[in-house]
Amino acid sequence: MNSSTQLRINGDRLWNSLMELAKLGATEKGGVCRIALTDLDRQGRDLFTRWAREAGCEVRVDQIGNIFARRAGRDNALPPVVTGSHIDTQPTGGKFDGNYGVLAGLEVIRSLNDAGIVTEAPLEIAVWTNEEGSRFVPVMMGSGVFADAFTLEHALAQRDNDGISVAEALASIGYAGAAPASAAASPVGAYFEAHIEQGPVLEANERVIGVVEGALGQRWYDVVLQGMEAHAGPTPMELRKDALLAASELVLEVNRIALAHAPHGRGTVGWIENYPNSRNVIPGRVKLSVDLRAADDVVLSTMDAELKEAVQRIAAKGKVEATVEQVVYFPPQPFTTTLVSAIREAAQAQGMTWMNVISGAGHDAVYLARVCPTAMIFVPCLDGISHNEIEDAQPGHLEAGCNVLLQAMLQSAGVASS
Ligand SMILES: [Zn+2]
Repeated sequence: MNSSTQLRINGDRLWNSLMELAKLGATEKGGVCRIALTDLDRQGRDLFTRWAREAGCEVRVDQIGNIFARRAGRDNALPPVVTGSHIDTQPTGGKFDGNYGVLAGLEVIRSLNDAGIVTEAPLEIAVWTNEEGSRFVPVMMGSGVFADAFTLEHALAQRDNDGISVAEALASIGYAGAAPASAAASPVGAYFEAHIEQGPVLEANERVIGVVEGALGQRWYDVVLQGMEAHAGPTPMELRKDALLAASELVLEVNRIALAHAPHGRGTVGWIENYPNSRNVIPGRVKLSVDLRAADDVVLSTMDAELKEAVQRIAAKGKVEATVEQVVYFPPQPFTTTLVSAIREAAQAQGMTWMNVISGAGHDAVYLARVCPTAMIFVPCLDGISHNEIEDAQPGHLEAGCNVLLQAMLQSAGVASS
């Protein structure tokens, strides 16, 4: 039994697999463009399933196209210990976002094969469909259906800008599977996801492993400020209903609200539309997005109330009409303490530097956490940059995260023989 805690994965093989997969959809700037349910996605899926079968796994595909590669355990009546992520990318994506979590899972299984270790519970690698949401919304589609966040029918009916539905796209790439896409039908014993951090915190603190304790809750809004267009010259300042002026105050207010709820409060206005957007016309209407995030649901509700109060105050002062519509709500999602501890202990036992972190971004793991014990492992990415072709990560960090994954999975699944 002791030998399994000494087992380490093969970092070169992990790196080579990442580089091989990154050839599919490779961009000139060194990134990857492999949009969900395109032919390149099919090629990536085909490569993964070939590798998984070569590693002795049985592969099944569910009705939303999620792929599960299963390595038998000693007791196959036990629910599997699952790891994975996604292999679809943003149009200007990188080699590691998602791909790392999938191939780290594959490397765990290859290493167990090399060492002849049989786990008590079976292991599975999951490749979740359309995590990025770039071609089809909602994002995290495959894991969302699996965790019953929305229905299979809803997901299959979504269409891209060309009018092609998810159902049609799945069929056209040959990944419209038959297995039920549901955690109720396929219970998961534990879920781990290794991922690049996509932020700068680990690098800034010079830590290799992010022990992810949970994910921030999110509220997204569409705000419309309705003033009145008027000539920029003849209209005195005090008689204007300037929607962009009100919007400017709101942008500052969103920033203030987030700062007042440090360290985990976040507030962003990332999209804005100004009408009529003409040099010598007082802006008559502004639409903008607001994105609020917090680690605690009470704090997030407070931020929500503060936003609505600020909009009313700014609208009254600026003599504009305001509407605020919430369009997305994800509650904060804590991960499972025992699994989080297992990750921390594995990092510590292997002498790695680590720190506790909270994920600011959504991940498939956030949906999985609704239906099974779940935790995530972060590793640094260069300058915290992702969703960018220059996204980069160090082979040694990727190897370290995969070694932590291996030990955390072994602890959850149990070692039957080695
Ligand atoms: Zn990702």
